Amino acid sequence: MLKLEQVSVRYGATLGVDRITLEVHEGELVVLIGANGAGKSTTLRAISGLEPLTTGSIHFDGYRISGALPAQIIDRGIAHCPEGRRVFPQLTVRENLEMGGYRRSDRQRMRQDMERLFDKFPRLRERAGQAAGTLSGGEQQMLAIARALMSRPRLVMFDEPSLGLAPNFVEMIFELVQEVRREGTTVLMVEQNAYAALQMCDRAYLLTNGRIVRQGTGAEMLADEGVRAAYLGG
Ligand code: ATP
Repeated sequence: MLKLEQVSVRYGATLGVDRITLEVHEGELVVLIGANGAGKSTTLRAISGLEPLTTGSIHFDGYRISGALPAQIIDRGIAHCPEGRRVFPQLTVRENLEMGGYRRSDRQRMRQDMERLFDKFPRLRERAGQAAGTLSGGEQQMLAIARALMSRPRLVMFDEPSLGLAPNFVEMIFELVQEVRREGTTVLMVEQNAYAALQMCDRAYLLTNGRIVRQGTGAEMLADEGVRAAYLGG
């Protein structure tokens, strides 16, 4: 479904990612793990069209999307839930959700989708008219996830969805991510919490200094000595 081949992104003198090749198949939950600065966010940003490639190509459903505009990539069916949530703090919860569907013209179905999301996230319904900036961190993360789903993506990318959340919220967010996948949306997720991420994923890639150094199923990665030593406390 999604295929990156030899993708590099350069920030001035720094290589954000260095000739990475990876694939996500329809229906999978794939995870990218690695230390801070390894290139995980850059990978997601490149897929979304937010960073130009210096080498390589990205295809989605057989179409080349590298070089396309972010809005065109959304239209192809890819949504991005960025690191740090990035909800619009002055806008209400409802307005934030509307922004997630800004490329859609089917207003009626959008309203139905919003109702369905409110059923899934009752806390957001309770706070629908409230400015997003007044929500707790966990609620903002729920909103960011719901906003991404408002574009009806076939592939959704989550960047560090558990970052900075209290443990009970972390569990809830991971449960949500798995539910999104069970409902048929393919997921590509970046996560610092490697143990939890590897347990829930189908496959994972380990990035170090912008390069993919290991890949395998979640179980293989959990059993890998290198992964264990660096990310799972040995
Ligand atoms: P983190 O979890 O800290 O976000 P990451 O694995 O997502 O880490 P990236 O944010 O993708 O890593 O960063 C990869 C490399 O690119 C790092 O060396 C980083 O300093 C650099 N980098 C990222 N964004 C920029 C930018 N806008 N300008 C310059 N360098 C950048």
